[in-house]
Amino acid sequence: MTLRRIVTGAVRGTVTLLYSDAAPGVSIVGQARFPNHLFKTTVAALERRFPTVLASRSWDNVGILLEAPHERVEADRVLLTIDLTTAVYHEAASDPRIGAIVAYHPPIFRGLKQLTLADPKQAILLNCAARGISVYSPHTAWDNQAAIGNADWLAGNLGSLVAKTETIDPIQGAAQPCDDGHVHGTGRLVTLSQPEALSTLVANLKANLGLQYVRVAKAIKYHENGSDHEGIRTVAICAGSGASVLTKSKADLFLTGEMSHHEVLAAIEDQTSVILCEHTNTERGFLSQVIKPYLLDEFKKAGAAYDVRCSQVDRDPLEQA
Ligand SMILES: [Zn+2]
Repeated sequence: MTLRRIVTGAVRGTVTLLYSDAAPGVSIVGQARFPNHLFKTTVAALERRFPTVLASRSWDNVGILLEAPHERVEADRVLLTIDLTTAVYHEAASDPRIGAIVAYHPPIFRGLKQLTLADPKQAILLNCAARGISVYSPHTAWDNQAAIGNADWLAGNLGSLVAKTETIDPIQGAAQPCDDGHVHGTGRLVTLSQPEALSTLVANLKANLGLQYVRVAKAIKYHENGSDHEGIRTVAICAGSGASVLTKSKADLFLTGEMSHHEVLAAIEDQTSVILCEHTNTERGFLSQVIKPYLLDEFKKAGAAYDVRCSQVDRDPLEQA
């Protein structure tokens, strides 16, 4: 009898071994389980659409950050989160179906010289490994993907028609990792199809991102003449902490999560207004609106009956008081 081929099974990483003998026909003679199949299927799907070669490798730390030596027996669900906090770990630990966590911000960023339970962040990783939960982090691979990166999703929340989109900080020349005709890189400079009032964009962002408040700084020319801020035509956008990217462009408005006092002052002196949504509020919706449907679709295409859940406890640590 000859081993003909191995077929990835539809349920929880089973693999079907197909054998045949000299006579026509194929018989199924065995099934086994791939180790960490849920995690590997998830990583493969994400790498297809958001390859980590797109990430800002000079300073970022992306990819498989923790590979558990075994996967939980019932693992068939991926948990998506922006930050892998203690609360998020407990959420994962309490659901035996979760065998993989995709954490947008890398839970390991700098080199580690030891792993101990005394350090809260290290304790999370040790407990994930002990429970059979693996961790993957995409970070700037999601930022830098042309057309469907974080900033593109954020631009869609302005609630205004976009006439043109440019990448602010493109990955340069030969370093462009994909020969797919797109200019990959961080940040987007969008030109709106018609000028909008600042108050309209603020209202749209709050409604579309589900936020109680955003912080706004108006360009000084609007303080001087007292007029409403009607003329926003160009918006520079970067999710998270975007000042270093946004200042490479010239726009009527900067949209990001957070900027320092001095960065905001410099912007409004340069006649650029600023909307700050708090860091992770510019990132979290990308999980539920882009990544979750993408992964579910990829799992379906692969015939894998896996589920995707967005964390219920992952939230921005800053709140209105
Ligand atoms: Zn961030």
